[in-house]
Amino acid sequence: MARACFPPSSTSMTPSTDRNDALMARARQVIPGGVNSPVRAFRAVGGTPRFVQRAQGAYLWDANGQRYIDYIGSWGPMILGHGHPAVLEAVRKAIDEGLSYGAPTEREIELAEEILSLTPSMEMLRLVSSGTEAGMTAIRLARGATGRNKIVKFEGCYHGHADALLVKAGSGLATFGNPTSAGVPPEVVQHTLVLEYNHIEQLREAFALHGPDIAGVIIEPIAGNMNFVRATVEFTRLCRELCTRHGALLIYDEVMTGCRVALGSAQSLYAQAIPGFEPDLTVMGKVIGGGMPLAAFGGKRAVMEQLAPLGPVYQAGTLSGNPVATACGLATLREIRKPGFFDALAAKTRRLMDGLRAAARAASVPFSADCEGGMFGFFLLPELPQNYQQVMQSDSARFNTLFHGLLARGIYIAPALYEAGFVSAAHTDGDIDATIAAAAEVFRLLPATAR
Ligand SMILES: *Cc1c(COP(=O)(O)O)cnc(C)c1O
Repeated sequence: MARACFPPSSTSMTPSTDRNDALMARARQVIPGGVNSPVRAFRAVGGTPRFVQRAQGAYLWDANGQRYIDYIGSWGPMILGHGHPAVLEAVRKAIDEGLSYGAPTEREIELAEEILSLTPSMEMLRLVSSGTEAGMTAIRLARGATGRNKIVKFEGCYHGHADALLVKAGSGLATFGNPTSAGVPPEVVQHTLVLEYNHIEQLREAFALHGPDIAGVIIEPIAGNMNFVRATVEFTRLCRELCTRHGALLIYDEVMTGCRVALGSAQSLYAQAIPGFEPDLTVMGKVIGGGMPLAAFGGKRAVMEQLAPLGPVYQAGTLSGNPVATACGLATLREIRKPGFFDALAAKTRRLMDGLRAAARAASVPFSADCEGGMFGFFLLPELPQNYQQVMQSDSARFNTLFHGLLARGIYIAPALYEAGFVSAAHTDGDIDATIAAAAEVFRLLPATAR
């Protein structure tokens, strides 16, 4: 064990003076596990989650007043860093005009127009309040529009916690999935087929077996919920071809990658490699809300007009298109579309990955890393994985040592090895170099036998 890095403070024998510990003890009394979303609980890495008191730019401060360089960025939305002045001003102005109306506003049109102008595959979209809601409705819409039931998803991709998507592979291609959560009846996932990411032959076989029944294929084009795994160009081309040939809809879940890996989202990168490439439906969230509860799904007019009130596919939301959230999202998108924004962001992210790679090499730690725009992933593996099985070959004990070593040095990365990381426009080269220096120290502390 790397004793130098951490004793998780919650296991200390003496009464703790740590405010994070005290808050966690209190939170556990009233909130299951002390958290409102499970990965925040540090279950995978041990120790006490940091209770955030405030955030500014690239930094978070915890309940002890300890500062951290933040590479989680609220799990993706905070692409400008925390407390960007233009965003705060837009939100303050919106608040003065009222918090919610439950009636249409001009700002919803503006935000829709803005997102559509960045994402040519979509002709119309609808705003909702979470990625889960957007993904769930995109599936319903694909089913409603095609009159079919089957959905294909890929192992390691996350599309929110709608029942039909909480599913793992059954035994073989002829059988559909099994629930991954209690409370999901097997019948609810019986139409969801779970395939291996980037597995060309399996995808072909699945369409050969079930093609006429498949309503849609949902995929994270760069999977950020198994750290960072790109769909290969070949696999992407095949997804498109098979969907087109069989009349299924290709659903791009860009909740994480949308306006994060490029201004035109991941689909714009694949369109460079595959002329004319477009998904049929796109799901977005995170960055487009700039830190407020906001998400969207959209696609071609003919499909989107299947939604109520025009069509038979029902969807609704009390807070959908909320005026404060739309103000926040619009102000964020107006910043990231400024010339040079993504080049500068990508250069910072690459600087971080290059530095970590060099530091790992110097310490003889197996390491691989990839990044796009302001999103990155690294693995304590010699080569980049291509699918979920390979990601899970990472050594979680070593990752935990790295995580706590960085945390003790004021660097906040995701507390699980299957999560992507994010750089914001507020991160300076100095922040990045300090991160690399901290990582270099921790790499040298990794147990020699495990290097
Ligand atoms: C975060 C995420 C979701 C779910 O979004 P929520 O707003 O957390 O409901 C869905 N899909 C992907 C790819 C995500 O990263």
